[in-house]
Amino acid sequence: MSTEPQQAAGVGQGARPLPDVHAAVQRAPERHREREVVSRARTIKLDGLHAYYGETHAVRDVSLTYAANEVTAMIGPSGCGKSTVVRCINRMHEEIPGARAQGRVLLDEQDVYASEVDVVSVRRAIGMVFQKPNPFPTMSIFDNVAAGLRLSGKRGDVKERVEQSLRAASLWEEVKDRLSKPGIGLSGGQQQRLCIARTIAVEPEVIIMDEPASALDPISTLKIEELVLELKKRYTIVIVTHNMQQAARVADKTAFMLTGELVEVADTDKIFTNPDDARTEDYVTGKFG
Ligand code: ADP
Repeated sequence: MSTEPQQAAGVGQGARPLPDVHAAVQRAPERHREREVVSRARTIKLDGLHAYYGETHAVRDVSLTYAANEVTAMIGPSGCGKSTVVRCINRMHEEIPGARAQGRVLLDEQDVYASEVDVVSVRRAIGMVFQKPNPFPTMSIFDNVAAGLRLSGKRGDVKERVEQSLRAASLWEEVKDRLSKPGIGLSGGQQQRLCIARTIAVEPEVIIMDEPASALDPISTLKIEELVLELKKRYTIVIVTHNMQQAARVADKTAFMLTGELVEVADTDKIFTNPDDARTEDYVTGKFG
């Protein structure tokens, strides 16, 4: 949490966020003007979502829509349930022993928890990028991306798809002459873009990013943010971040969570300048968190 001076103001009376966040919100509209949509992504709708770890009720009755071709940021203090929510979206949550989810997650009209739905197809449609870049350690750059294709049984020209995915992840120019070198030989920021290329290779419709830049240096972080703005032309993007400036820079919508509940979701500039709920204001003005 930043130690910038805090500014108090009544909710709904033009609350002022932390100065850095304020500057990011001011700049954001220019970046969001690029609304060109390359292909139609899909909407995700959470309807009365609850998630548990054994007896722990970690997510409570969250209902929220992630619009197609938009970036939605999930913010809130550590432990409030952001990661749990996003892991419920592609059914990763249920992989944790003792963990379960209740409620509905709709990918357009399809409930991803419906009994007839194949969980592998859910995870292919809803790709995930994690906090720490996790390239397959023994594989080359090329094979890291091709592995995603092979695992998902996608056919077609693997070489071409690998190149397309690396281009889409803004990594091609940096790696095109060293495709057979190990993926783990890349810098942290490059490894994260490699993981994004691997995710893109299987042609998902939604990309979930759980603090994708929190382990990266500022330059690599900016590259990831630029990439997120580019990727939303093709995908629906959900990004968990503890960095409010980042949310202000990349997100069209921001959702604020607290102790397992969704407090508020709205346009990003509203959340940071004029939120409806006093708890949102306290958080975005740095009073806690
Ligand atoms: P956030 O992403 O906002 O930091 P999490 O979704 O990771 O929050 O955690 C929400 C709650 O669920 C916390 O109370 C956390 O301790 C608990 N929790 C998260 N992961 C596990 C787990 N694997 N086992 C048990 N409890 C967990």
